[in-house]
Amino acid sequence: MFPDDHPGSRALFERALKVMPGGNSRHTVYFPPYPVYAAKGEGARVTDVDGVSRLDFINNYSSLIHGHCHPEVTAAITRQAATLQAVSLPTEAEIELAELLCARLPSVEQIRFANSGTEGVMMAIKAARGFTGRRLIAKVEGAYHGSDDTAAVSTYPHPSKWSDPDEGRGVSEPGSGPGAAADVIILQMNDVEGGRRLIKRHGAELAAVLVDPLVKNLGYRPASPAFLEMLREETRAAGALLIFDEVYSLRLGYGGAQEVLGVRADLTALGKIIGGGLPVGAVGGSAEIMTAVFDPRGGKAKVSHGGTYNANPLTMAAGAVSMRLFDRAAFDRLSGLGDRLRKGLAEAASAAGATARVTGAASIVGLFHMSGSGETFRDMAKARMENPEAGRKAEHFFRHMLDNGVLMGAPGFFVLSTALTEADIDHVINEAHVAFSTLRK
Ligand code: PLP
Repeated sequence: MFPDDHPGSRALFERALKVMPGGNSRHTVYFPPYPVYAAKGEGARVTDVDGVSRLDFINNYSSLIHGHCHPEVTAAITRQAATLQAVSLPTEAEIELAELLCARLPSVEQIRFANSGTEGVMMAIKAARGFTGRRLIAKVEGAYHGSDDTAAVSTYPHPSKWSDPDEGRGVSEPGSGPGAAADVIILQMNDVEGGRRLIKRHGAELAAVLVDPLVKNLGYRPASPAFLEMLREETRAAGALLIFDEVYSLRLGYGGAQEVLGVRADLTALGKIIGGGLPVGAVGGSAEIMTAVFDPRGGKAKVSHGGTYNANPLTMAAGAVSMRLFDRAAFDRLSGLGDRLRKGLAEAASAAGATARVTGAASIVGLFHMSGSGETFRDMAKARMENPEAGRKAEHFFRHMLDNGVLMGAPGFFVLSTALTEADIDHVINEAHVAFSTLRK
């Protein structure tokens, strides 16, 4: 049972602590008393340094759409690694991935690549400011969009720093310059009339509204069509742009959340699955906006966009194969596995008389040990206060899964890959029955 049977991980953690604060470069990988260290990934499974194999239901926070070391992805990377790894010239590999993504996302006619979702969002914000000549960005309270100062405003605000509904002023996250908050207007998820009022009020200065259609911090509930339609209507009326952050939500539809929700963005930030598991980010949008902002010919670009590793051939090759493999049939099959898991988890909770909210869509599944149907960051905070045992229950669930061959997201989520089978899903459901029934109420 973890951690007693994981001496290899313990030894690595002690070694890591000497050279890295907290022992790693990514705070989400830590859990007490020390995280499990990975040694090998194969398909749906990851094996740790102590030889324990588990089904991977995190999939590198979503980037591994085909699980670990898919043979075709590995072959593409290997081929590319033997041919051309990095170069200060453009390559055909970049055009190929750009063509695939433009064909897939109706609102994306042109695209530029970067190395992380954070950069994709940052470039989308810069593009909107460059295109409109305006300063303000509106975003949803509690929405995580990566580490860019502007995008990070009011991601985890303390209740004392919640925005006022009339002005919508947010708060800079620790480490960001205080000026970041002055450039951001805060909306509440799915508050159609409140959002409309704020956009109208600040419209003349508004460069863009940035929205993630499926916010992790808000319990993996898709944004309502009415909210997105309001954003589309009001940004158009204000002469501002609508940016979709589809770094995560691209998993919601073959053509992303935009296809499913029927709203066309002006700019879209991408990342995660489009790189086939290698580091990636991108910003895409209409040819009119992308050309006006980024086309450097004749010294006319409004925004400069460099990056030593942008569109690096290894990522481009892995991304192209992965996106080709993730065709409509693969998307439908994966969504079916997601439905099976959501149904099974809800039934397991109900059979054990446990309070649980199962959320998510397609290949993303959220599990919260609380009642209610919160939509905003504030609803989530309130639900946590009303369900003080939720954290302990999530911890019990996570530990049970860890000890029984399943790696899930500790706060309560599962992100699926095409390498999983129905039997793998049923294993999680069976363990969920045990986990719920051994939960101290
Ligand atoms: N936007 C969203 C919606 C995300 O979920 C993430 C990462 O989880 C990011 C942006 C940042 O992407 P990256 O971690 O590649 O910088």
